[in-house]
Amino acid sequence: MDHFTYKNGELYAEDLPVATIAKEVGTPCYIYSTATLERHYKVFSGAFDGSNALVCFAVKANSNLAVLKTLANLGAGADVVSGGELQRALAAGIPASKIVFSGVGKRPWEMETALKAGIHQFNVESEPEIRVLSEVASRLGMEAPVAFRVNPDVDAKTHAKISTGKAENKFGVPWQDVSRIYREAAALPGIKIQGVDVHIGSQLTDLDPFNNAFKRVRELVEDLRREGHDITQVDLGGGLGIPYDGTIPPSPASYGAVAIEAMGNMGVQLIFEPGRLIVGNAGILVSEVIYVKQGAERKFIILDAAMNDLIRPAMYDGYHHIDTILEPSSESIRELADVVGPVCETGDTFARGRELPPVEAGDLVAFRSAGAYGAVMASTYNTRPLVPEVLVNKDQFEVIRKRPSLDEMLELDTIPTWLDNGK
Ligand SMILES: *Cc1c(COP(=O)(O)O)cnc(C)c1O
Repeated sequence: MDHFTYKNGELYAEDLPVATIAKEVGTPCYIYSTATLERHYKVFSGAFDGSNALVCFAVKANSNLAVLKTLANLGAGADVVSGGELQRALAAGIPASKIVFSGVGKRPWEMETALKAGIHQFNVESEPEIRVLSEVASRLGMEAPVAFRVNPDVDAKTHAKISTGKAENKFGVPWQDVSRIYREAAALPGIKIQGVDVHIGSQLTDLDPFNNAFKRVRELVEDLRREGHDITQVDLGGGLGIPYDGTIPPSPASYGAVAIEAMGNMGVQLIFEPGRLIVGNAGILVSEVIYVKQGAERKFIILDAAMNDLIRPAMYDGYHHIDTILEPSSESIRELADVVGPVCETGDTFARGRELPPVEAGDLVAFRSAGAYGAVMASTYNTRPLVPEVLVNKDQFEVIRKRPSLDEMLELDTIPTWLDNGK
């Protein structure tokens, strides 16, 4: 459920016509809905009412400070994967005690910042990493609270590029080494073993892989406890999918039931790291049709948004539903077209052979479900300014990241002195 709906014949974001925002901010632009963010967070966290659970929003899905602050106000924690994301989460008012730090390549300065901030947990992904963390913590006279991310070797049955829980993936410590790694880590100075972490992939639309992974983790916790480790935290990661193309994923409630069935009576604090589920359907990308071009074999709708603004279709074959901002009448014919951007890459194609109502130059369209892994993955390829972001709250909106000017972009480059010729 989201708050982007047709009213009076045009698409609204909550109580505001999308066209009004697009006119003021320009296109392309991302528009997020506060009510949708809040609803999704509450539905997810509500699945764990009465359980000892900490919901840590996966900041990499959407790291805008205004989005983070909206979630912080609801009590969300954060799952961060870099020193930069840690700084964002703290700046948005998420308490360090609700922040977990994931990622395979943490550097000493990032560990130091996180230790000094007093984060809840490091999700450690390798033996070299735990040795560096031990050194950093010892040097500071501190103790790092640690869970190892384990690789349960389960198939998440999702796109290969967002599958993370198979033995062949770079994530987590190998299942057969877990026992030894915990034993050795427990003996290291500056390390406090407290948990187990697992995250098997993203956009999962089936509960079986979660169920398999969570049951394996349960057995692991029992084994580790027998081996003398005081496991009080179990981080079950993120990954629950959203409906992009009509496939309806399991509800947070049924996902929660699977987690609680596996772990509920273990006497641990459960940690969840949902990203896409919270922000995905809370955002749209609005774009203007530049040209409609009849090619030799097919029709192309050329938009002012491109792969640099929304890379999911090019990178993951991601599907986004595309709506016209004007509500099509039920009788209006549909035409097949390829929807593309202006970037000089064949990969800059949002949809092939998509059925759409007739559009012409100057019309606005909206990519639905663009709130997760959209703006955060944007680049300036083709010297296209980073796409701006807007947050709507009922009948108000504000720009929460502005579009940089071309001058601002060019100012980041410098001409070396030997090319400058004193001019
Ligand atoms: C990406 C990621 C998440 C969030 O995944 P979603 O599919 O967006 O819920 C959670 N935890 C870790 C470790 C991740 O890398």
